[in-house]
Amino acid sequence: MMAAYKRLIASIKNIFNNPKNIAEPQSAPIEKIKHSLPPQRIRRSEHILSRQLISKSALKVLYELHRAGYQAYLVGGGVRDVLLGQLPKDFDIVTNARPEQVKNLFHYCHLIGRRFVLAHVHIGRDLIEVATFRAHEMQEVGDRVIKDGCIVRDNVYGTTLEEDAWRRDFTINALYYDISDFSVIGYANGIEDLRLGIVRLIGDPLLRYQEDPVRMLRALRFVAKLNFQLDPATAAPIQQFSHLLDNVNTSRLYEEMLKLFLTGHAVQSLQQLRQHQLFGQLFPLTEQSFIENPIALTFIEKAMQNTDERFAKGQSVLPAFLFAAFLWHPIMRLFEKEREENANEQALLFHCSQRVWTEQNKRVAIPRRIITLMQEIWVLQLRLTRRKSKSKRNVGLVQHPRFRASYDFLILRANSGEPLETWIKFWTRVQMGQDASIEETPTPETSEPKKIVRRRRRPHKKNNTKTTPTV
Ligand code: ATP
Ligand code: MG
Repeated sequence: MMAAYKRLIASIKNIFNNPKNIAEPQSAPIEKIKHSLPPQRIRRSEHILSRQLISKSALKVLYELHRAGYQAYLVGGGVRDVLLGQLPKDFDIVTNARPEQVKNLFHYCHLIGRRFVLAHVHIGRDLIEVATFRAHEMQEVGDRVIKDGCIVRDNVYGTTLEEDAWRRDFTINALYYDISDFSVIGYANGIEDLRLGIVRLIGDPLLRYQEDPVRMLRALRFVAKLNFQLDPATAAPIQQFSHLLDNVNTSRLYEEMLKLFLTGHAVQSLQQLRQHQLFGQLFPLTEQSFIENPIALTFIEKAMQNTDERFAKGQSVLPAFLFAAFLWHPIMRLFEKEREENANEQALLFHCSQRVWTEQNKRVAIPRRIITLMQEIWVLQLRLTRRKSKSKRNVGLVQHPRFRASYDFLILRANSGEPLETWIKFWTRVQMGQDASIEETPTPETSEPKKIVRRRRRPHKKNNTKTTPTV
């Protein structure tokens, strides 16, 4: 694939070598730079984007739109990633057909979104997103709503591909594959930036971040994912604008977190977000724990490495594990502070975790079902490191549906410097079916938590984890 990409680069070099074709990228309002940057069209014979590299379902949608007399293009990541020799996350399509017209063409299609109305076309098990051309204008016309410079709703359709291109976020995303002649079209110098490995906002970064602050996260995600450089003008306002993320819908931010951390480049994403001071904006308690306790940072770094390795091997990467890791040290900090006064560890942990995730949810809304799983992982941290592990009942924890995730979590904690080696050995042996019941049980010196004098278990009260102490 890399060889093919090099061929592409060589074949289109003549375009870049011709100074007339390259205008200086500028950080200026779009209306001012539009005319100085003509689009570049690369014929089929000069690029590597073959139909074999596009999903069959996406092709079907492109052909169907084309057959019905509409313009149809693959856009964004589907073009960008294939040209870079990578596998795209999804294939996005753009057309001049209105959402209702798209809906009329396909059997299984429904319209979604308020901010942007999009058509979701279902082909077999695949879902293909089809957007209608939009125009970039910072005026409240038609169904466009702007609040404090931020586009809240944007359903003003454009009539040309060019208009659509200039409202896109980054130059490397203003790339199109034309199904009518299989050519690739690049706007705003996108092909040149792809060649140079630069993530650059289209237009004036100050305005474009104000319109949609999520673009700051997207910029850092593309740097992390593609291993590109961030254009200095695109990077400059991020720190000062970090607070704009407070105005973004918290569920949308949750979705962005999944794309940043669960798609194979979590280590780079963390590094980018911290470098540009956005991590603390999204996870303030976690950032605080890094400052107070070096183990907390090592723990998260190891968790990110682990997630990337699992992703590369095609193993599952769970949102619950990720967020459980992010919030573990903030919870432990609170737990350590309050544990002396409380006798029931599990109830205390539950109480501390509830306080922490409630605070966290003000920034990034973690769905309730994920929180339930996270809580299971946290509670199992206590149960897996309890001296009563030798009892049959505790050894039976290996059957718990969250045992495996909790055991992996324990390993991460041990790898980040917590004294848990003996427990890891113990549970490893238990899983192998070996009798690890007595001698292997860790001593109070290596186990934790250990200070609490526990009350005797009351046999009939099963759900003491559900006790919710007042905050
Ligand atoms: P990936 O699929 O890997 O996340 P992508 O570039 O395809 O990358 P999508 O979120 O799938 O990103 O969006 C598809 C395209 O829509 C982008 O390439 C970009 O052109 C446009 N786009 C998405 N989000 C925005 C935004 N906030 N502002 C402007 N354009 C956007
Ligand atoms: Mg995409």
